[in-house]
Amino acid sequence: MSTLLALASARQRVYPETRRQGLAGAPKMTVYCSDQTHSSIEKAAIALGLGLDQVRKIESDGELRLRPEKLSAAIEADLAAGLRPMAVVACAGTTSTGSVDPIPAVVEICRRHSLWLHVDAAYAGGAAICPEYRALMKGFEEADSVVVNPHKWLFTPVDCSVLFNRHPELLREAFWVLPEYLKTDDGAVTNLMDLGAFVP
Ligand SMILES: *Cc1c(COP(=O)(O)O)cnc(C)c1O
Repeated sequence: MSTLLALASARQRVYPETRRQGLAGAPKMTVYCSDQTHSSIEKAAIALGLGLDQVRKIESDGELRLRPEKLSAAIEADLAAGLRPMAVVACAGTTSTGSVDPIPAVVEICRRHSLWLHVDAAYAGGAAICPEYRALMKGFEEADSVVVNPHKWLFTPVDCSVLFNRHPELLREAFWVLPEYLKTDDGAVTNLMDLGAFVP
């Protein structure tokens, strides 16, 4: 769900018309990740109406990390074909092997093409609490969004997935609706129902 909301934010930035018009008439918006990334990215692409054909699984290197030169090439090929590159999902700790994508190089590519960078640290992001592992997470601070799942290495027993999103206003734009029965007078607080796809 965190990755879905991150990609919804990216979609809102690229094609805000989605909220009213849906995706009919939208450009084909592409998402890039390595061939090692978690199935939640594909789930999100299905649920958001982007379509699996728009998810580019970039070949990884001998250490199962995303290859930046292949990422660049895929983005350029899509631009040349008239598609609209939207977001890159870099993985910091893949589920199968714990490999970490070269995030600083991915940051550069995202900047060059104005793409949303989502870092999937659902599995291993908790390790960054330890100073000795922080170097592995270099580049995190440049991401547009990061997901860390305390219900994994942080031993939170009930599902708890945390999304850090640098542009929460895009989520609000994408999802807010306010029927009479949900109005409150707690104007000063952040109401999470405005920032997600489902009413709590
Ligand atoms: C577990 C995992 C997810 C999905 O987490 P949920 O438990 O479904 O919230 C996403 N990405 C990675 C790398 C994971 O290991």
